[in-house]
Amino acid sequence: MAVRIDGKALAAQVKARVRSEVGTLSRPPGLAVILVGDDPASAVYVRGKEADCAECGIRSFPHRLPADTPEETLLELVRQLNEDDAVDGILCQLPLPPHLDADLVIHTIRPDKDVDCFHPFNVGQMSIGRPAFLPCTPAGVMEMLRYYQIPTAGKRCVVLGRSNIVGKPMAMLLTQADGTVTLCHSRTPDMEALTREADILVSAVGRPGLVTAEMVKEGAAVIDVAMNRGPDGKLCGDVDFAAVEPKASYITPVPGGVGPMTRAMLMCNLLTAAKKHGA
Ligand code: NAP
Repeated sequence: MAVRIDGKALAAQVKARVRSEVGTLSRPPGLAVILVGDDPASAVYVRGKEADCAECGIRSFPHRLPADTPEETLLELVRQLNEDDAVDGILCQLPLPPHLDADLVIHTIRPDKDVDCFHPFNVGQMSIGRPAFLPCTPAGVMEMLRYYQIPTAGKRCVVLGRSNIVGKPMAMLLTQADGTVTLCHSRTPDMEALTREADILVSAVGRPGLVTAEMVKEGAAVIDVAMNRGPDGKLCGDVDFAAVEPKASYITPVPGGVGPMTRAMLMCNLLTAAKKHGA
């Protein structure tokens, strides 16, 4: 039976560490949080991030804009926040309403305030192994692997999903941790043959029940990044948890696995940014 990785408990530890380090700074770190429109899921995420900031002694500066905000207004706000010394990190909650270009907004955020690590400069720095920040979700997964002493060096790692925010950087970080990495996506034939080889299997697709017990090697560590609504309306991942748990060595639950770690790593990035800004 697999050890259940407790993302909630580990995230609490990480945040406690951030809080105690924040206490040694000359001023609190600051996060500007931009939310455009009234998407209920985005509002929940933003409230969660603001609560994390409060818990860690980080100031948050909310900017709630109406759904029909013109692009130039949003870009001007980002430029102002770029120049605001109380703001160490700028987070623009995605997705944006369709008339707004998310790439343009991301490119406008100054890289030293890009605590999500979405700006091409930071993605490039990460890819050559000189990161200023790490993207929160893959960084949270790496922190879990380290904490639970799950070795990556020389291990076969299979990542399902190749998005810019999860799959690709996940594959990059596992490669930098000396794993031998295979990145799968919707055009990968016979994916099961690849997943069955994995010592570490990370799923970031967004399809409930995608990863079955037959796809998992005995003793593998299985990390489920996905957050889906199952047919019963409950939150679930990609992995058939009940069937895979007896076969795996480690497994993350959904909820309570990767999600809380993603939020905790954002707090780490803010601490890093504030220190760089002389706090
Ligand atoms: P995304 O941008 O929709 O990417 C999904 C990826 O899965 C794509 O690369 C797609 O391939 C691939 N895919 C689709 N069907 C597949 C299949 N049958 N077999 C293999 N690969 C398949 O999603 P995302 O933003 O990366 O998010 C993925 C999941 O993680 C979602 O459930 C999201 O809610 C969750 N998430 C969780 C956290 C967290 O903190 N826990 C953070 C971010 C995201 P193509 O590229 O070929 O289309």
